Amino acid sequence: MLENEYQAQNRTYNGSKTLVFIVGNSLSKSSCGWADTPGNLVIIHDLFNDGCNASTDNSETGISGAASTLIHELIHSYGINHQCFNSSDIMIGTPECAVDKETFGHVTTTIDSPRKHYVGSEASDGIDLLKMPVWSDTQSNTAYSQIKSISNNKFVPQLDDGTVYAVIEATSKKFDWEWEKDFSPEGNSISCQFTSGATVVVGKVEKSACTFAVPANLRAGKSFTVTENWNAGP
Ligand SMILES: [Zn+2]
Repeated sequence: MLENEYQAQNRTYNGSKTLVFIVGNSLSKSSCGWADTPGNLVIIHDLFNDGCNASTDNSETGISGAASTLIHELIHSYGINHQCFNSSDIMIGTPECAVDKETFGHVTTTIDSPRKHYVGSEASDGIDLLKMPVWSDTQSNTAYSQIKSISNNKFVPQLDDGTVYAVIEATSKKFDWEWEKDFSPEGNSISCQFTSGATVVVGKVEKSACTFAVPANLRAGKSFTVTENWNAGP
């Protein structure tokens, strides 16, 4: 909803960039922020209180609570999940990890200091933060979505049988559904489109199927809608 509203007011927004919403007041007692993993939407909140933005954070951890939350959520948005290997790591989080409250927030914050998980390595989620195009791109479209199709990333879109069905810049495996019908239009009787935010792709019709050339700048984690219109009736 926030993204749709932003889109309505900023027509040139292409949907591949991360949107960050910053809210001073608390929206929830149990977190300091949220992000789609992967996705392009980040919210950080509760910046007026000690829980998420304590005045002692900087001296104890080397980074303010607000900045730490922002970085944590941005890294989620690139597809990286919570990491439990080190209680000082910026990606530690619940419910996956048992967070030691004595340590967490009171020692220098680290970002994969062993370089074995998500920085300089893709061992954790199939994603190496250092290889993401976010570091080199300044304004153009970017294939943020090129998360490896074969990885241990549970968020790669898969069918029930494990088939990865949406790989950017590759012909994806098909997904389809069936229903009882007495009418089976083909060819010119069909038109179809793929819509995700401002991205609209007109499908190529082959018999009764549609294929879509999904652009490389479509960010991983974005939802989409496919519609097929029947232009002829019985
Ligand atoms: Zn988190």
